Amino acid sequence: MNQKIFDRVLRSSRLPSLPTIALEVIDLVQQADVSFKEIAETIQHDPALSSKILKTVNSSFYGQSQSVGTVSQALVILGLNSVKTLALGFSLTANLKNADADAFDHLLFWKRSLYSAVAARALSQKIGLAQQEEAFLSALLQDLGMLAMVHTLGEPYKQIVAEAGTEHRKLAGLERRELETDHTQIGGALAQAWKLPPLMVHSISHHEKPSAAPSEVQKLIQCVAVGSSVADVFVSESPGTALDRYYRYAQQWFKMPRTDAEPVLNVVHKDTVEMRRLFDLPTGDLDNPDEILGRANEALIQVGLQSAQESVALEQQNRDLHEKATTDPLTKVANRGCFNEFLSARFNEAGPGAPLSVMFLDTDHFKNFNDTYGHQLGDKVLVVLAETLTAQAPEGAMVARYGGEEFALVLPGHDRVSAARLAEQTRCAIEATPVESESGLLSITASIGVATYDGSFFKGPELLVKAADQAVYAAKSGGRNCVRVFAPRPAAKRAVA
Ligand code: GH3
Ligand code: MG
Ligand code: MG
Repeated sequence: MNQKIFDRVLRSSRLPSLPTIALEVIDLVQQADVSFKEIAETIQHDPALSSKILKTVNSSFYGQSQSVGTVSQALVILGLNSVKTLALGFSLTANLKNADADAFDHLLFWKRSLYSAVAARALSQKIGLAQQEEAFLSALLQDLGMLAMVHTLGEPYKQIVAEAGTEHRKLAGLERRELETDHTQIGGALAQAWKLPPLMVHSISHHEKPSAAPSEVQKLIQCVAVGSSVADVFVSESPGTALDRYYRYAQQWFKMPRTDAEPVLNVVHKDTVEMRRLFDLPTGDLDNPDEILGRANEALIQVGLQSAQESVALEQQNRDLHEKATTDPLTKVANRGCFNEFLSARFNEAGPGAPLSVMFLDTDHFKNFNDTYGHQLGDKVLVVLAETLTAQAPEGAMVARYGGEEFALVLPGHDRVSAARLAEQTRCAIEATPVESESGLLSITASIGVATYDGSFFKGPELLVKAADQAVYAAKSGGRNCVRVFAPRPAAKRAVA
């Protein structure tokens, strides 16, 4: 965290301040044994606040059958907690909403906050959480840090907010990139300095990542986070992605299937219209919900198509990566790592009655070839060789480039005689496949060594490889362009036949 910026914001004289009534309400809210009478008196001291509370309590949002005429009555009907939270909400937003209205996209900010708040409340109700008012207020003020930052950091911060646009999810990342702190850290610290209830401090600090919050408040903060996705369905320029996110989180965190999550959207819009009137927040016009939800659903189908396309592309990418990791780029046969792995696996399966042979092959006088005709033609020889080997390889075998001009074949199920016969066929095929060049057809030959494991003698695959290599060496000594088979002998005189 960048302490300098952090201090600059939190010590700034330009930070939005709290009206006296808010301070009083906060103080009352924190007291465990506060009486109805005290709360009612405090609220009634502020006529604007009490009239707002009464309007709210009588609104369709609360669905009271009887009209509520006094704050004391509201306290009896709605309970102490709801009224306290409402009072806190009104007194906080009353001041914040008026602070420097043209500082940034103020309408978008409050529109998003209000939609989130109504959605968080609706969700908390749906999952049977007792703290519904707290969910509302926590979501309403979740981005308090943004207000603090825009007022104290000015232009550079406005640019960050503008870059995020309607995609709030990107904001914290952009803030950290530019400022090494973000609105959740700043907001959390400010909420603490203002002595807001701990629940609100947690939700302001952790609304971007509920799993980081203490477990006892996690469900409520999840409501705030999912509520924000709902808000994005209404305010973001990519409503389909927001809708997709909303459905996924509702399922993941609340086990709420899409059929239950979908109707919440209409309720949220209806209640947001009502709440905007009551809180008198500068949200601008709220668009027609049918249109918005129609657009979001269409876009969601696109998101689905896109993610299907993305997963096809991802599979291809994985296949490409796997191929890159296992294939020799020049000759397209298996590379040495892949050979080792395959050989080890086959070695473990081999034993008496299930033989395993290895054929090693080294191109003859390849250095001369390179020196005479050039490296490029040398490469072509390696490619042709790999093709010949692949054509000769029996089913179940692996052809690999062991390194340089050396190739290896793993031959599961082939005993010494069968492998030796295959090696001789391969040698002939190589000899019979000249490479075309500007100087005419150039013949290639190779020296081949074979070694076989039948459950005895070789303790591990690397010793089998070493034996095949020794057989190649014997073939070189024997005049090249020939096959030699490793014959295990008693320890005293091990040799190549
Ligand atoms: P020998 O018959 O004893 O095997 O002789 P050699 O010349 O084939 O053997 P040596 O090990 O002396 O030389 C191998 C040559 O293979 C040297 C190296 O430049 C060449 N080589 C290794 N990898 C490549 C490659 O990818 N492309 C080309 N063109 N040449 C390669
Ligand atoms: Mg060599
Ligand atoms: Mg060679």
